[in-house]
Amino acid sequence: MENMSGMVKEKNVYLWHNTLCSTYLIDLKKMENIFRLNGWKVSKDPQDADLVVLGSCGSFMNVIEDFERKYEEVCEMKKRVAIYGCLPLIAPEKFRPNGVMAKFDFFIPATNPEMVEKIFDELTVKWNDLKEPGEFRLEDYRNYRPERKFVVVQKGCSATCTFCPHKVGIGPHVSREKNGIIDEIRGYIRNGAKIIFIEGRDTGSWGTDLAPKQNFGDLLNAILSLDGDFEVHINQLGGNWLVAHGDELVTRLKSEKITNVHIPIQTVSPRLLRLMGRDERIAEMEPYLMDLKKSSRKMLLRTDIIIGFPTETMDELKATLEFVSKLFDEVACHGFELHPNTEIARQTVEFFDRAEIDERIQYALDYFAENYRGVIHRGGQDSASLVAREHKIKEICLSMQGKAEKSQ
Ligand code: SF4
Repeated sequence: MENMSGMVKEKNVYLWHNTLCSTYLIDLKKMENIFRLNGWKVSKDPQDADLVVLGSCGSFMNVIEDFERKYEEVCEMKKRVAIYGCLPLIAPEKFRPNGVMAKFDFFIPATNPEMVEKIFDELTVKWNDLKEPGEFRLEDYRNYRPERKFVVVQKGCSATCTFCPHKVGIGPHVSREKNGIIDEIRGYIRNGAKIIFIEGRDTGSWGTDLAPKQNFGDLLNAILSLDGDFEVHINQLGGNWLVAHGDELVTRLKSEKITNVHIPIQTVSPRLLRLMGRDERIAEMEPYLMDLKKSSRKMLLRTDIIIGFPTETMDELKATLEFVSKLFDEVACHGFELHPNTEIARQTVEFFDRAEIDERIQYALDYFAENYRGVIHRGGQDSASLVAREHKIKEICLSMQGKAEKSQ
């Protein structure tokens, strides 16, 4: 592109997203890198941009509405638009020729971020030439700490939950090779990283698709045997993997280095878990979680639950709240949302209306306020609660540290 003086003008890209999860935020950072390395400037204002990349998450209704607002704003500016991420597969009707977001120039699916290459007329640095960044764009942090590094160990998901919009967007699970992961982590530790976040949408599935087959415990073993003074946080370790690998996995999780584990349970009711298409044995995790909690160390256990899943009884909800109160230090409470392109939407079950779901959420929040000392928040359904969460987590970590020091 030439400017009025005949000089070749640098192209500008503006990148934005609506709460992509960590795994795909890392790819957004990689996209920023590929633009810079191919001679583009990264703009902070969409008005200045030749191309706008909109990272789209489809996890919650408020997030989808937010995306639509941003899309309209950019369309009014008459910019070229690339849509990256999950939403066009989660809600394809919105992106079809007569849909509300029909006009865009490129689609880069979450499963194939390397498709960003088709945007460039000339490509000097390719997607596969780029190093894993291990971090997000600076503006994607609430609190940037360079000693924290984020390492994606797998993408996609191995489960087939009937209600889940994510799987439609991210596809089947694909593990990274162990050597690549270990080299990446070793490099971060050598350069001073203190906390390694193990990321993926289904981290516990790591290795089950590799030949020869391996499991998440094998990967943990390799990470934990690295030299250095570092902590490990694990995200999205499905409870089914804890039940499947039991004591073997718990033994590894007891490492002093692992200080934060996220195990989404959704519910403990075997009946609801069957309806959700999930492993119905979640309540069987209790002895393993007890074992982890008893080891007097500073480990924070986090979970997610769904409230108001179709046909949920109040007894089932109470059992889940009791389980969480006994075993977890943090809970994200999500009200059930019906995504039209999911399996559950095609089933003949009765759905609760919004008012009933809101009442149940309030019931859960009241229950926790009385019976629970951990952190409660609404996750991606309410971003303000994520900020309050950070203060409470600090308090809990300090108190755990105090206990651990006393017991030494
Ligand atoms: S996997 Fe789920 S949370 Fe992550 S970007 Fe896709 S829809 Fe959003």
